[in-house]
Amino acid sequence: MNTYNRLSVAFEHGEGSWLFDTDGNKYLDALSGIAVCGLGHAHPAVTHAICEQAGKLMHTSNLYTIPRQQELAQRLTQISGMENVFFGNSGAEANEAAIKLARRYGHQVLNIENPSIIVMENAFHGRTLATLSATGNRAAQAGFEPLVSGFVRAPYDDVDAIKAIAANNPNIVAILVEPIQGESGIRIPADDYLNQLRAICDEHNWLLMLDEVQSGNGRSGQYFAYQHNGILPDVVTTAKGLGNGVPIGACLAQGKAAGILVPGSHGSTYGGNPLACAAALAVVNTIVDDKLCERATTLGSKILEGFREELKGATYIKDIRGKGLLLAIELSEAGAELAVLAKVKGVLLNVTGGGKVIRMLPPLTMTDSEAELLVKTVSRLIKVYAADESETQ
Ligand SMILES: *Cc1c(COP(=O)(O)O)cnc(C)c1O
Repeated sequence: MNTYNRLSVAFEHGEGSWLFDTDGNKYLDALSGIAVCGLGHAHPAVTHAICEQAGKLMHTSNLYTIPRQQELAQRLTQISGMENVFFGNSGAEANEAAIKLARRYGHQVLNIENPSIIVMENAFHGRTLATLSATGNRAAQAGFEPLVSGFVRAPYDDVDAIKAIAANNPNIVAILVEPIQGESGIRIPADDYLNQLRAICDEHNWLLMLDEVQSGNGRSGQYFAYQHNGILPDVVTTAKGLGNGVPIGACLAQGKAAGILVPGSHGSTYGGNPLACAAALAVVNTIVDDKLCERATTLGSKILEGFREELKGATYIKDIRGKGLLLAIELSEAGAELAVLAKVKGVLLNVTGGGKVIRMLPPLTMTDSEAELLVKTVSRLIKVYAADESETQ
């Protein structure tokens, strides 16, 4: 079905930060398949793990013990401070698990008949009906009504709005929020936002559920973005960068959230199968062993500094921001064509946030010289584009 606006390019293979199209042209990949290929393309550790596992066993069933799944669960809980994990195959599925967990927590623990979850304006949580209903984007929801009920919307990065809902709505059981909003344009909240949400959730016995589908797996400069805040959520979801391209999603829980889902209450045929878990284990171990969280921090700062220097005093630029390798250049006017123009110049990025935010999510393995090339190419492109635009006005 025609569900995507695709650029006219097809890639034949990749290596590290580079993609090669079917005509032999090469492109610097500053998008990583939307935060998926954090280790770049064809990473040997991941390739090896997939090949080895594929030759042994790809799938059994969650009817049986899956040692690879247990190994991955152990690794993830150890890194995150969480207690247990449910595996699915995507970000949306990880969030579905979180939403179901919160509702069951509401019924069983808080004795609430119609449990509601606070979600944010401009949030993105996925495209399934429940996650679409949680998503704060009317354009994405339009035509798919009736939406799933049980979500209450609040402005992002607004603690007072949450407190107002707490005072008026006795049905709230959880907050679901992205530590950094990705799809709506790399929106970074106040430094203590998550700490404040943690305190409100504690006060009201709500679950704090963080959607780290995009911000997780080292991208923000910590394995999970909440680790910058020194807090633990009750639930955290992740996907994208976890499999480096092999579909896998995870919903982790701890404390009062850890025992809510029990045998028979949730499931997934493929979820956590040996192949996906072998790939994800290689990814997680590489991120930790190669210190790629630290790398995301230093490379991210370097790229931001580079853009601030190159685009100093440039018109058309509203903001240059980022955390780790979640990077954005916000334009003062819509410039969606920049994704096409960048492709022509041999750089892959994406424009989101209503066509105004150039989003870059480079591999955590990008080299310094590749990063310099990225900054130079994109800065030049924006300056030429801005000049052309002001001429035609
Ligand atoms: C991409 C994304 C999702 C959805 O993940 P899928 O794998 O496409 O289902 C959910 N939440 C956030 C924050 C995302 O960036």
